[in-house]
Amino acid sequence: MKNEYDVIIVGGGPAGVSAALSCRKNNLDVLLLDKKTKDKIGDKVCGEAISKETSHFVSDKLGIKPPSGIEVNVPVEKLVLKTSLPEDYISLPAIGYMIDRHKYGQRLLNDAINAGAEVFAEIKVVEPILKDNKVVGVKIKDSKHKDKDIFAKVIIDCSGVRGVIRTNLPEGFEPKLSKSLDRSDYASCYREIIELKEEHGLDGKIVLKYEEDIPEPGYIWFFSDGKTKLNCGTGFIKTGENRNKSVKEVYFNAMEKHYPKGSYKTLDGRGGVVSIRPPLWNAVAPGLMVAGDAAYHADPLTAEGHGPALMSGYFAGLVASKAIEKNDFSTEKLWEYNKLIFSSFGAEHARNRILTIVLESIGPNKLEFLLKRKVVKQADLTTEGILTKRSIWNYISLALRCSPRYSLLLLMRKAISISKKIAKLCQEFPESPDNYQSWKDEIEQLYSKIEKK
Ligand SMILES: Cc1cc2nc3c(=O)[nH]c(=O)nc-3n(C[C@H](O)[C@H](O)[C@H](O)COP(=O)(O)OP(=O)(O)OC[C@H]3O[C@@H](n4cnc5c(N)ncnc54)[C@H](O)[C@@H]3O)c2cc1C
Repeated sequence: MKNEYDVIIVGGGPAGVSAALSCRKNNLDVLLLDKKTKDKIGDKVCGEAISKETSHFVSDKLGIKPPSGIEVNVPVEKLVLKTSLPEDYISLPAIGYMIDRHKYGQRLLNDAINAGAEVFAEIKVVEPILKDNKVVGVKIKDSKHKDKDIFAKVIIDCSGVRGVIRTNLPEGFEPKLSKSLDRSDYASCYREIIELKEEHGLDGKIVLKYEEDIPEPGYIWFFSDGKTKLNCGTGFIKTGENRNKSVKEVYFNAMEKHYPKGSYKTLDGRGGVVSIRPPLWNAVAPGLMVAGDAAYHADPLTAEGHGPALMSGYFAGLVASKAIEKNDFSTEKLWEYNKLIFSSFGAEHARNRILTIVLESIGPNKLEFLLKRKVVKQADLTTEGILTKRSIWNYISLALRCSPRYSLLLLMRKAISISKKIAKLCQEFPESPDNYQSWKDEIEQLYSKIEKK
């Protein structure tokens, strides 16, 4: 390992490898560091359902071959929303793959190595190094716990939900990025991969089963991973009365109703966290960009974070190369990264956070009511595909007309109006950091009008 690079990337998940490939496409000198052993990079607790659209986006931009062969367990064709009603009440097209994340992750890592990125595993990045109010490097501990400082023109933090660089910036570092994860920002999850004794009959489907006993967002998922194999799990925000609830206990109680103990063998069972908040409004600082889960890039509605991580890694590499070409690593020069995020998935995710708040307020009982009364029909939702934004907002409008509760009606009306304003603001993301503060104040004020007290 050298002492200095063009770019240091912290983390070898989808955001990190995509950033590495993006930098290498522009011939930058890249170092990628991950604390895991090399053979474990890419292995992560996950629903493992990824959309065809995002994996093909990065394939076009970076030549990352979409998952294939042993990396794909089965194709995904439909998303099914179920309540306690016997039939599949809502079934939406959802084109994608159930992948083997570990195998796909390992291939992406090898793609980055073959493209010329220097990859070092078992290196724990401890904190950023700052000089003259600019991030200029990282402090690391190697596998023998030896400390070392490494320097780069640009650092890209792709270290997942804990965001080791972002959260270790000093107080007052501007623009301020140092907010650590708050309990209400993420859902704690428990996920298993199971092998059933009999076929489950859910081929091609990813199913969200809403249940009364599961805290909001209130569902257990069953993703078909093969004829007898399922990826199942649940998760919720551990605040208020759910603070001390065990996710594992909630999961096993829910499982018992569907697949009692003895009907399956557990192949893998682990906990994880997924962020459910809007993306970081600003993900750059002098010498620094933050990508993937570290910048809250997962969709707060669907938890889909793999594709957005690949996309943000690509954008970060692109902007890093332009900055290096001009020898300018200022916030102003890196600002384009924020604009790219908000003109791709960022605006949608910002709106979806409002939607999750509304769905939390509806709860499983009301969702069931709406389905039973056929307020929501399959035909209303099939055009745009998996929980697509237009169709789900269409669904809310339908609910609005039939809501049995005035307070709920008001909440929904407010949510629709706020979400429109948020979408507009995201489209008008400031051209430069100069107008950022007033833009941020405006958008945060909109959230405060709907955020649960
Ligand atoms: C239960 C669950 C289910 C999910 N289901 C889906 C799904 O079905 N579909 C989907 O698209 N997304 C899903 N997601 C989200 C998805 O897994 C993430 O959004 C995605 O992995 C984010 O990629 P990333 O590269 O930003 O971070 P990560 O994949 O978390 O990678 C971060 C990397 O950084 C490394 N690292 C961390 N700290 C340090 C440090 N200090 N020093 C060095 N290295 C470090 C880690 O070892 C890791 O390799 C799910 C998440 C959870 C928890």
